[in-house]
Amino acid sequence: MKLFEYMAKEIFRMHGLPVPDGYVVESAEDIRDVRNPVVVKSQVPIGGRGKAGGIKFAESTETAREEAKGLLGSEVRGYRVKHILVEEKLDINDEFYISIMMDRSTRMPLLIASADGGVEIESVPENRIFKRTIDPTIGYNPYIGRELTKFTGLTGDTAKQVSFIAGKMYEIFRSEDAELVEINPLVLTEDGRVIAADGKMTINDDSLFRHPEYKGRDEELTPIERKAREKGIAFIQLDGDIGVIANGAGLTMATLDSLSLHGGKAGVFLDLGGTDSPEMVKSAFELMMEADPKVIFINIFGGITKSDTVATGLREALSSMDVKVPIIARIKGVNEERAIEILSSVGITAVSSLAEAAEIAVRRRNEAAGGD
Ligand code: GDP
Ligand code: MN
Repeated sequence: MKLFEYMAKEIFRMHGLPVPDGYVVESAEDIRDVRNPVVVKSQVPIGGRGKAGGIKFAESTETAREEAKGLLGSEVRGYRVKHILVEEKLDINDEFYISIMMDRSTRMPLLIASADGGVEIESVPENRIFKRTIDPTIGYNPYIGRELTKFTGLTGDTAKQVSFIAGKMYEIFRSEDAELVEINPLVLTEDGRVIAADGKMTINDDSLFRHPEYKGRDEELTPIERKAREKGIAFIQLDGDIGVIANGAGLTMATLDSLSLHGGKAGVFLDLGGTDSPEMVKSAFELMMEADPKVIFINIFGGITKSDTVATGLREALSSMDVKVPIIARIKGVNEERAIEILSSVGITAVSSLAEAAEIAVRRRNEAAGGD
């Protein structure tokens, strides 16, 4: 789950990591008493807002409201702006990059920092980037901060503040079950303070049961995606109109590939994982119908969960529902003949070849769409 900047900064503040003074509004009228220059920042769960025109500066209540009005409801990098963060404008002397992320190759947290901040880290030359794996059984130690500041050429009080912030970031990374904590830019102000001018955090979805405070705050999800999350179904909305149901993440990806190979485009996909429970399958279909696909493409691989038990679950779920869109199923694996029989008996086109199934699905979709 990606947190908005204002949420990440709330967490920073609670942990004593310095952030600018500011507040969040949903309407321009809620901006008041701007006496000093402020930054008006659109809240979308993606970076690069500055370049996309999502960050504005203002010197009075009136201009701040005007800028906020322009941003609220507009789209910044594909996301509709619903919140604005109004913050004191910092006088920037220097900008740094610093982040902690979960590194898949070492399976440990990785601290990354650079004196070249405010730009995408991908564009910074490798030899200007400090990287240090943090062993979670040892945790963060001040010497890591000293290595960091030595590498980036920071000295004196600035170095001390940056080290302190790196330690705080690790504390936050652990306590919030984060996959990423990033500050870009971490700013050195003209008066010598080091402050997080931006903040980005991703929380590990599998840890959300430990963090009830995030419930309902995952606003980057579409309403159906949110419902799916509540039911524990992996469900993603895309921009085509073929609904895909598969079991397992790899098979789901392969399904999307084979559809696009045949000129089709998935509109949503959901992953049944290892389930064959009719209730779960029924919930999945209900969500699928809300997304209004032109055809539904089911791709099941029978292994430990046999294909005929999945097929039985599908049949049971469908018998109590009114699903009118064409359903095409590709069934492969343990007991596939029996599964194909079961599905065919309820009017589902079922075959065992993925290429054939994908081709039929795309054809049916094109018929249903009337050639558009
Ligand atoms: P992003 O583009 O989505 O990463 O949004 P940021 O919060 O990083 O803001 C983009 C850029 O706006 C920063 O790199 C800064 O150069 C600038 N900026 C943001 N906040 C301030 C501020 O308080 N004062 C000044 N002078 N510039 C700011
Ligand atoms: Mn940024």
